[in-house]
Amino acid sequence: MTPAPAPGPAPHRAAARRSLEGLALGDAFGERWFPLFREPKEAYEQIRARRMPEEPDWHWTDDTAMALGIQRVLDQYGEIRQQELAAAFALVYDADPARGYGYGMHQLLPQLLHAPAEWRRLGGELFDGQGSLGNGAAMRVAPLGAWFAHDLQRVAEQAVLSAEVTHAHPDGIAGAVAVAVAAALSVRGELGLRAVAAATPEGPVREGIERAADVPFTTEPWRAADLLGNGQRVRADDTVPFALWSAARHPDDLVSALWTTAEGFGDVDTTCAITAGVVAARTGTDAVPKPWLTRREPLPGSPAA
Ligand SMILES: [Mg+2]
Repeated sequence: MTPAPAPGPAPHRAAARRSLEGLALGDAFGERWFPLFREPKEAYEQIRARRMPEEPDWHWTDDTAMALGIQRVLDQYGEIRQQELAAAFALVYDADPARGYGYGMHQLLPQLLHAPAEWRRLGGELFDGQGSLGNGAAMRVAPLGAWFAHDLQRVAEQAVLSAEVTHAHPDGIAGAVAVAVAAALSVRGELGLRAVAAATPEGPVREGIERAADVPFTTEPWRAADLLGNGQRVRADDTVPFALWSAARHPDDLVSALWTTAEGFGDVDTTCAITAGVVAARTGTDAVPKPWLTRREPLPGSPAA
């Protein structure tokens, strides 16, 4: 029997869905700029010229797969339940382990498939017992922030729960809180970097977002990425500030936000997934050119564009 949804205001289901569709678009768009698909010089020129990647199929990666895991738990229970989320992550991994997961997740997720109740011990053992401080908990969480947008306290609490299942390190968790709060503020039309920083636990992620708030939006995106980090180190504090800076620079324009984020390169599928998950929670994907939407791999359960 499926338990009744948690009491309280109705979740922002439509906003969460918009966020998820945007996240998947950002993920699949960002992935196109990796050297696997084109030389860095060509990628840079193409981004500067705002020329769409011409490949017919843009596949989404681990960012979207894990966001789908969160979405399934929210759809079923109306809130994060950690053991169920551990099982959901393990199942989406098992369905396709070649979605570009990081080292830690390749260690953890196969174990969670057989022992989802052991998530706390298994996640805590990663990286010599430090737990992951990667950007994985941040990259998947924007739809959760949209879902609980009516209650920022609940956004932060639920983001922590969603992060802990795989990311035991405080920095990995802080990255998730920051992105979830940003998505909630985006739904409310209140996205601002200082407000996001104020709601983020103390530490390097929060400090990075505070620095981002001081970077004027007239700054060239590559320069902002240089100042704030572009995810190249695959850490939350190196990824989240620039991705949110791009979102706050274009809160009503998903396509411009994506080009801005892409110009930073680095871990560009993940930075674009974060930016787009936040902005699309407000805008949806209706203003995105049709050829982008038809190229993006469909999500399970959604009609093809
Ligand atoms: Mg990825």
